[in-house]
Amino acid sequence: MEKTAIVIGGSMGGLFAANLLLRAGWDVRIFERSDTPLSSRGAGIVTHEGLRRVLALAGVAANDPLGILITERRAFDRSGKLLAQLSLPQILTSWSRLLGLLLAAFPRDRYHLNHAVDRVEPGDVQHLARVHLGNGQTQEAHLVVAAEGLRSATRHLLFPEQSSVYAGYIAWRAVADQSQLSSSAQGFLADAFCFAQDPGEQILTYPIAAPDSVDSIQINLVWYRKTSESQLESMLTDRFGQRFEGGIPPDRIDPRHLQAAIAQAADHFHPCWSEVLSTRIGPLILQPIFDLESSEMVRGRLALVGDAAFVARPHIGQGVTKAAGDALALTECLADIRDGAAPEVVQALDTFSKLRVPVGVSAVAQARRMGTPIAMTRNDSRQDHEDALIHYYSDPKHLLRETAVEIKGVAHVR
Ligand SMILES: Cc1cc2nc3c(=O)[nH]c(=O)nc-3n(C[C@H](O)[C@H](O)[C@H](O)COP(=O)(O)OP(=O)(O)OC[C@H]3O[C@@H](n4cnc5c(N)ncnc54)[C@H](O)[C@@H]3O)c2cc1C
Repeated sequence: MEKTAIVIGGSMGGLFAANLLLRAGWDVRIFERSDTPLSSRGAGIVTHEGLRRVLALAGVAANDPLGILITERRAFDRSGKLLAQLSLPQILTSWSRLLGLLLAAFPRDRYHLNHAVDRVEPGDVQHLARVHLGNGQTQEAHLVVAAEGLRSATRHLLFPEQSSVYAGYIAWRAVADQSQLSSSAQGFLADAFCFAQDPGEQILTYPIAAPDSVDSIQINLVWYRKTSESQLESMLTDRFGQRFEGGIPPDRIDPRHLQAAIAQAADHFHPCWSEVLSTRIGPLILQPIFDLESSEMVRGRLALVGDAAFVARPHIGQGVTKAAGDALALTECLADIRDGAAPEVVQALDTFSKLRVPVGVSAVAQARRMGTPIAMTRNDSRQDHEDALIHYYSDPKHLLRETAVEIKGVAHVR
């Protein structure tokens, strides 16, 4: 009896799903549209115990160090005065390192770069799913997993009512080599998760393992800034007037916006933060922040996982863990399937959707609440905004305690 699966998207969600399904006896292929190996999407990732457990199930060897351990969080005011600190041990890593570990666990010959999927027919109880590729080929499978990220074309096609909402702010993201920073910036930022906030702004840094070695430390910076839709429109337009939808490649950002951001960081916060921006390695990344919710995650023999289904704002630090949990829940729901053609596949996917939609809804709500002090969206009431401002400004320890900590159920481990 055979069980064939096609996974669309070879990033975090796709690799978790493919590795887990492969180990559960599925004949899996990944189709990734990028024609070159994926590179970093914003660098820093906070890990959680649940994520580490799913990584082990997905075949990532326990002797591969995941990242570096830090033990403390600190909140500063704009001038750099310490306001609060909290002991909270966590392993911090980089997006590239995590992706490299997942890639190493998956057979090379099953991972196909330069395979963009144009369209999916999701199939049903009697019919297999069909995947139409940009190269003109059509492939059939018993199961299709769409791990295509926030801009998933499959979601647009099959669930047109499920669309993302701009949160009213952006994140600038950068990484610097710790060894290249001044001794004062190293003393300030090097060994802890550091935060500063001002209404409409939040800046944070944390040390991460470099992609190629956990002995080499980098400082990851994320700076959230309230940004109106018209300002965003200008920032997503390059200097030749080309407008990008939802996000702009770093090398196309108008240099005037980059220079303004670095200058404004120096005006707003202690100079150590802007030093990370100005000594960064690699580009300054502009990331508009969105909420995305789905009321269902399956259609026929197709399942959405990861950011294709739900995007919670980064404050809760769950994006990769949620993708891992979706993949694990999907694999578990399919555990009793012996023959991929069996109608039970469709029922198993339905169970998966019922299990994971509430997890996604609650992650999005929690992350939205954490972002409300930075900007309000049409979904927030003024009361929500004011309550959140009071909560996070009356005691900065709330920010330290709630940012990027494990949320029960997201990783789907018991
Ligand atoms: C500022 C910020 C900070 C963050 N911090 C954290 C953190 O600390 N911890 C954490 O866990 N998460 C964090 N995240 C979130 C995390 O990066 C994402 O949740 C995660 O990368 C989602 O993985 P994914 O595989 O679902 O989607 P993506 O990584 O977006 O991958 C989608 C893949 O699908 C491919 N694709 C798309 N369409 C097609 C097609 N038609 N055919 C073939 N391939 C296709 C794309 O090329 C891409 O490779 C953060 C995000 C931001 C913005």
